[in-house]
Amino acid sequence: MPTLFERIIAGEIPASFVYRDARVVAFRDIHPRAPTHILIVPVKPIATLDDASAEDEAVLGHLLVVATQIARSEGIAAAGYRVIVNCREHGGQEVYHLHLHLLGGKPLGPMVSA
Ligand code: AMP
Repeated sequence: MPTLFERIIAGEIPASFVYRDARVVAFRDIHPRAPTHILIVPVKPIATLDDASAEDEAVLGHLLVVATQIARSEGIAAAGYRVIVNCREHGGQEVYHLHLHLLGGKPLGPMVSA
């Protein structure tokens, strides 16, 4: 059963893409929590950050490099932004296909609420 994000990557479900290469795609979150809210997703369907292995080291680094490039192209780099990875239940993960959230465009407040 493909993940939601595999279906988006395959073009079966529409999304607002901002970046795509052979290893990574990025598209706007459907329920943005900030003026800029972009999901950066490996094409390889790694379920959670905890499921990444040593062989995924390069793609994990690439996700972060792409995040910085998108932050610059979205015009949020100078003011700053936040990158989040939610992992499993306590991390609040909803889609079990690893992704970074890139959030910015306004002061984001405390890192977590109590
Ligand atoms: P997480 O809770 O870290 O798994 O984040 C999953 C994110 O995917 C949430 O912020 C959702 O708003 C977002 N999302 C769910 N469905 C879609 C979709 N069809 N297109 C874009 N973003 C989506």
